[in-house]
Amino acid sequence: MVTGKTTIIGVIGDPIAHSLSPAMHNAAIEALGLDWCYVAFRVSSDRVREAVVGVRGLNIRGINVTVPHKQAVMPFLDEVSDEASAIGAVNTIKHEDGRLIGYNTDVYGIRAALRYGTGLHPLPPEVVVLGAGGAARGIVYALAGCEGVERLTILNRTVEKAERLAEEMLAGAASTGPVEIEAHSLDPGDVRAALKSAGLIINATSVGMHPQVDDTIIDDPDAFCEGQLLLDTVYNPRQTRLMAVAQCGGARAVNGIDMLVYQGAKSFEIWTGMSPPVDVMRGAIEGHPS
Ligand code: NAP
Repeated sequence: MVTGKTTIIGVIGDPIAHSLSPAMHNAAIEALGLDWCYVAFRVSSDRVREAVVGVRGLNIRGINVTVPHKQAVMPFLDEVSDEASAIGAVNTIKHEDGRLIGYNTDVYGIRAALRYGTGLHPLPPEVVVLGAGGAARGIVYALAGCEGVERLTILNRTVEKAERLAEEMLAGAASTGPVEIEAHSLDPGDVRAALKSAGLIINATSVGMHPQVDDTIIDDPDAFCEGQLLLDTVYNPRQTRLMAVAQCGGARAVNGIDMLVYQGAKSFEIWTGMSPPVDVMRGAIEGHPS
């Protein structure tokens, strides 16, 4: 029950009604017996400053930030973690003694999903990331610093964005490690060439996400092969068309639920200082009717 003493946490985004984060975090809150409540706030782009300042004003303990505000919140924070500033996006804000501190837990989310969810450790030397948007930025940063990775290839519809991302990550190479980062288009020839020697492919585009469930960023099963792993960051639907294409080509395929759970678990830990009940959080998502 929400009372006058209840601590509020939440998420801002637009749209937000589809978010699974309230179910996931409120399940964790209940499991730990906390007098906390996680609320979804629909915030339009012209209200981002007021929303962030309002976290301090309303004494909200912390918020997640989702599409399309992950970059827009940054100027209104008192401090941003090194990771979040290198990536250029914040997905978690902690309110501590009047100060607002920004973090990016997608980095932990993708690393933990690969390590604990797929058992892939160390990672294969060649990795392909599809997409160059907000999620891809965090993923490229996270993978460039992972044991085993020697070459990252970013493939994106707008090739200039992929090139810019590669340049920025290489410029920050001190924190990402000694990896080669290349950028190409999504032309079938580029896709085949990049996937040929890749052990891990990560889809960080929104293609195939509900309601466009029949769309797929790669439709050629022969681009994939046995021994490869595809991680599709899309989690709605649970089985995407891209996963089916990869499986048809002989690859193993997993969806984005683990990444979602682990990034949420890290945010929960940042706000509460407690060890998050990861299995409860995953159960809340898997049992969700969406
Ligand atoms: P974003 O910043 O809007 O980027 C979207 C990306 O998808 C861009 O690379 C864009 O290419 C590409 N794209 C969109 N429509 C396309 C199309 N029709 N054909 C080819 N490429 C297309 O979005 P985001 O924040 O990065 O999110 C991307 C996906 O990651 C979403 O599905 C989201 O659910 C998922 N995600 C999952 C988790 C998780 O925890 N599982 C966390 C974060 C994000 P252009 O640059 O050419 O426009």
